[in-house]
Amino acid sequence: MKKIGITTTVPVEVLYAAGYSVVDLNNIFITSKDYLKYIETAERDGFPKSLCAWIKGIYGACIENGIDEVVGVIEGDCSNTKSLIEVLKSRGIKIYPFSYPTKHTLEEVKKSIDDFIKLFFDRKLSDFEIKEKIENTRQILNKGRILAREIDELTYDFKATGLENHIYQVSLSDFNGDVEEYIKILDEKVKEIELRKPNTKKIKLAYIGVPPMISDIYDFVEKYDAQVVYNEVQREFAFPRFDTAKDIYEQYYDYTYPYSLEFRLRGIEKIIKERNIDGVIHYTQAFCYRAIDDIVIKKKLSIPVLNIEGDKLNCLDGRTKIRIEAFLDMLLDLKGD
Ligand code: SF4
Repeated sequence: MKKIGITTTVPVEVLYAAGYSVVDLNNIFITSKDYLKYIETAERDGFPKSLCAWIKGIYGACIENGIDEVVGVIEGDCSNTKSLIEVLKSRGIKIYPFSYPTKHTLEEVKKSIDDFIKLFFDRKLSDFEIKEKIENTRQILNKGRILAREIDELTYDFKATGLENHIYQVSLSDFNGDVEEYIKILDEKVKEIELRKPNTKKIKLAYIGVPPMISDIYDFVEKYDAQVVYNEVQREFAFPRFDTAKDIYEQYYDYTYPYSLEFRLRGIEKIIKERNIDGVIHYTQAFCYRAIDDIVIKKKLSIPVLNIEGDKLNCLDGRTKIRIEAFLDMLLDLKGD
């Protein structure tokens, strides 16, 4: 199967239906023990020091792993991606553009997805045949989405850990490059987690914002009678409401991450209430414009919010640890029991 890289969540159903194995470049970057080498590759090739580590990591992962086709999201993700795509193009990598529409209507989402489909299917197939192929693929992927949702539910039952929740939701952006195999992995994981006794914690946390560079945050909070029971963006990558969508268009219309902060916050507040969450950790990446969102997030959410920032390292620094500890202490005091 030919590999295609993605820089963020895109309609992966289209890519698998077209016969690709999909590789989320973020995932290769962050799970590599050589992740710093990917950043260095980018800096050596001219990427500025003062640029978000994710962009540099994606670039390094693409170059070092010989990925020669990439889907670049040119609208609705990150403005840095636009420039990244230009650099990748200049290195001979074939780019397939995808845009999340600026106007969040079903009609506009449909137009974007239809344009995307045209890039991968030749005209030998009728529109009906193409749509059928994509819908059949969507139904297969949905088997994995059911299992990821079960892991999400097992997290607020305190059986799955915050880190497991993060890993098994975020991986659904590409199904680890092999849908059938990843569904098997998810299935086994669900069975294993279901057998555990709940490891109940006093403080329930939400993690919001871009997925973290620093994944030791999950284990760290669990040492302090707290657990992340909701990972906002990772959960969106897994499309937990896939079964309320009748087709791929409705599924991607319902996806919150590329749209307004107001729309995202409505979804976050709903889960805060449903899961009885005590506090929010808002992660931002150094040099990312999304850090500005913190001003509105703190104003609008009904519970305390701690903003932490990551840069190049994949582990928490001492100062951030102290800030998290103080935040958890404060939440325990607020609970008063
Ligand atoms: S962290 Fe921010 S700047 Fe970096 S890739 Fe994501 S959205 Fe772009």
